Amino acid sequence: MKSVLEYFEQTAARCGGRTAVDDGERCYSWQELREMAQRIASSFVKQQDWRNKPVGIVMDKSVDAVAAFLGSMYAGAFYVLINPEYPNVRIEKILDTLGTDLLLIEAKYEDKIRACGYQGSLMDIEEAKRSEVREEALAKVRHSAMDTDLLYGIFTSGSTGIPKCVVASHRAVSDFIGHFAELFGFTEEDIIGNQAPLDFDVSVKDLYTALFTGATLVLIPKHMFSMPPSLLDFLCEKHVTSLTWAVSALCIVTTLRGFEYRIPKEVRRVLFSGEVMPYKHLAAWREALPDAKFVNLYGPTEIICNCTYYRVTGEEAESAPLPIGAAFPNRRVFLLDETGHEVKEAGKPGEICAAGTSLASGYYNNPEATAKSFIQNPLNPYYPETIYRTGDIGCYNEAGILCFMGRKDFQIKRMGHRIELEEIQLTLEKAEGVERVCCVYGEQEGKLVAFYAGAADKKELRRAAREQMPGFMIPDTFLQMEQMPLTKNGKIDRAALWSRYKEEKKKR
Ligand code: AMP
Repeated sequence: MKSVLEYFEQTAARCGGRTAVDDGERCYSWQELREMAQRIASSFVKQQDWRNKPVGIVMDKSVDAVAAFLGSMYAGAFYVLINPEYPNVRIEKILDTLGTDLLLIEAKYEDKIRACGYQGSLMDIEEAKRSEVREEALAKVRHSAMDTDLLYGIFTSGSTGIPKCVVASHRAVSDFIGHFAELFGFTEEDIIGNQAPLDFDVSVKDLYTALFTGATLVLIPKHMFSMPPSLLDFLCEKHVTSLTWAVSALCIVTTLRGFEYRIPKEVRRVLFSGEVMPYKHLAAWREALPDAKFVNLYGPTEIICNCTYYRVTGEEAESAPLPIGAAFPNRRVFLLDETGHEVKEAGKPGEICAAGTSLASGYYNNPEATAKSFIQNPLNPYYPETIYRTGDIGCYNEAGILCFMGRKDFQIKRMGHRIELEEIQLTLEKAEGVERVCCVYGEQEGKLVAFYAGAADKKELRRAAREQMPGFMIPDTFLQMEQMPLTKNGKIDRAALWSRYKEEKKKR
């Protein structure tokens, strides 16, 4: 296997006229999807050698976005979805990192992209879909493909203020998805209800599980996640059988008491990841779907979706967080202490590290960040073997099962999104009248507070934040401080800041 297109073509040949992808407004059969993808690829394949070069996709979540991903693959490029809802400043940073010469775009976003200073070519997706298929050129690309070639890039928050683009190879994705689909028994009878945005790595599981098995991919419109009745109606109408969702999305349904309205009874598999799943919400889902299988999946984007899984038994002791379980096949997951030695004893914390074929290839155009996290395995001095340090702290419980304990840095999860607090701080510190910023996230309260020193006006600061960062990164509260409280070692005292926030809250 050199390219995931081989799986796709087998599926398209086998499942031809069945629905491949459905976004609620339009559907493509497998045959149609293949044809669209080949047309899109043909619209730009001859421009240059696209191998390991990025093509940006500026489109909403739709059947055409999926066709554009596949089109990039047929042209030999790797694709990066650029979320058109992001503020221009963030899009500029993304374009800067990618340095791409081509964006596949919906016409309505052309002005926005030009306003970001982009000067390369824009290919209107409608026009691309009308191109003649260039069989010969596409065959040439396939002939020279290698499984280490890049397939996609996904941007995550970066602590230096610049988002990082995690890049994944065909080989890494094939290896992971092959095991994932087999372990959880996906077949072409499945109807996968996709929740995650297409620039989020949870969606990689949905898309490629469908491509590999012939399951139908149903793209659930984003707005439904704030309206559980329409979401649940949609899941029932589309006969969805499988959910691979972020924990935060599952919790929305239970928090808003969706199951009192309707239960999507055909769902037989619920896989979740991204955060610790709260037992209360898990119990509500299990009560609604008593026959469904529930699995906790763990792992960052850099290891390609997930490296461990834990099948929920219902026997878990609620005094400890739900375990993250054991490694997927063909993966090694282990704990390292601060001196680079392996931690094996139960109860002793260590940094979760992962090795194996399905690691990402690194951060595109960012050798410094790559070198920091993708390192030589300190347990192997004999030959080059890259491992990824997750920055997550874990420990084994008495039964030898891996459990997640938290982070060793200032990365948080908010509304399902991964954020490096330093990225928000660095962005806000550039605003006029701001001398110092420290962001603190109260996990229990679900509140993100930006404490800042300087004369800046809170409203102005919020406006500056909105101009530069996506909504999920905007602090809930801005609190002006005369001075930042410091610990004995001279670091900003985050605990004192949080107490200050609580005092202020009481006063209000
Ligand atoms: P992302 O790259 O957006 O998938 O975020 C990855 C990070 O989310 C991990 O490094 C963990 O900190 C956290 N995470 C992912 N899955 C889980 C899980 N099942 N339980 C707890 N935290 C998780």
